[in-house]
Amino acid sequence: MDKTIFHRSENFESHATALNVLLNDLAVPYQEGDTVGIKLHWGERGNKSFLPPLYAREIVRWLKGKRINPVICDTSALYSGGRRTGKDSLETAKEHGFDGDYLGCPVIMGDGVDSRDIVEIDARYGHFDVVEVASIIKKIDGFFIFSHFKGHLESGFAGAIKNLSMGFASRAQKQRIHSDAYPILKQGKCAKCGTCADVCPVGAATMAAGEYPEYDLDACIGCAQCIAMCPEVALKIFWSTSESAFQEKLVEAAAAVWKIIGDNTLIVNALIGITKDCDCMTGNNPVIAQDIGFVGGYHPVTVDRESIRLVGEDVFSGAHPGVPWERQFAYAQEIRFIENS
Ligand code: SF4
Ligand code: SF4
Repeated sequence: MDKTIFHRSENFESHATALNVLLNDLAVPYQEGDTVGIKLHWGERGNKSFLPPLYAREIVRWLKGKRINPVICDTSALYSGGRRTGKDSLETAKEHGFDGDYLGCPVIMGDGVDSRDIVEIDARYGHFDVVEVASIIKKIDGFFIFSHFKGHLESGFAGAIKNLSMGFASRAQKQRIHSDAYPILKQGKCAKCGTCADVCPVGAATMAAGEYPEYDLDACIGCAQCIAMCPEVALKIFWSTSESAFQEKLVEAAAAVWKIIGDNTLIVNALIGITKDCDCMTGNNPVIAQDIGFVGGYHPVTVDRESIRLVGEDVFSGAHPGVPWERQFAYAQEIRFIENS
């Protein structure tokens, strides 16, 4: 189904109501007694822009009202911080209010607390023959992909496509998706503060006292933490192949996951608190558009495309100039992830 449903809500008081109206408008693909995973991002430790757990609780209530058993899930992150291990990530979830008692359902790691509960699935696309993802996609009956729609340093925007691809990918797969991006230093802007070396999860960014930082591109995993956290905006992304490769890899991983879960999955994007960067980022993350409401539907590409239309293409192009995010939609059509995107 190519249809999307939109409910406007422009202030905090009306958001939960708008979400509930949208939920009741969706055609439900689940059966009574099914277990359904609400896949979301509970925010990196220190991040302030993640969606508050209130909305997840509304989705839990709605599913339970249909005699469906919800679980809230995410996967471990690639970089250091409060979500790299399953144990840390669950602690961060709790700190951010994603607590089983409050939500009314379990909160779990889709790739296990040791990040090793993963499976390889068929992709057979140009970049990936297979992709490695959290095994939960094969263990439960359906999914509810609930995404905070916002900007992103590498993908321009982040919504349902990214939640399905990077969001379900194993740590190794996340690295494979990121592997074309490296930092490049603009020395004139660098204040030699050392933040990039401090945040690098693999020691690829180093700094001798009084010198400019150096980046070991063989060790770099392309996670972009240094670029995002540099207070002087002295780093930009260098793409080792084409800038489009990252966009295409994201789409391939999402399409591979969708082949498995698509028939029993709903998609909802929250177009509220729309920030420049993603909820992995700590520190200042400015809001770049006013609250709009919720978009729901039955295909991630359709829902993301409608979300972009509602927020405005200029917003994302202005926040991340030069990032070829449009490639995600063109490539989704090329690999027949969606027809007539
Ligand atoms: S974080 Fe930015 S300003 Fe600080 S040392 Fe690294 S590149 Fe330079
Ligand atoms: S992108 Fe930056 S932070 Fe990430 S691994 Fe490479 S040098 Fe380190």
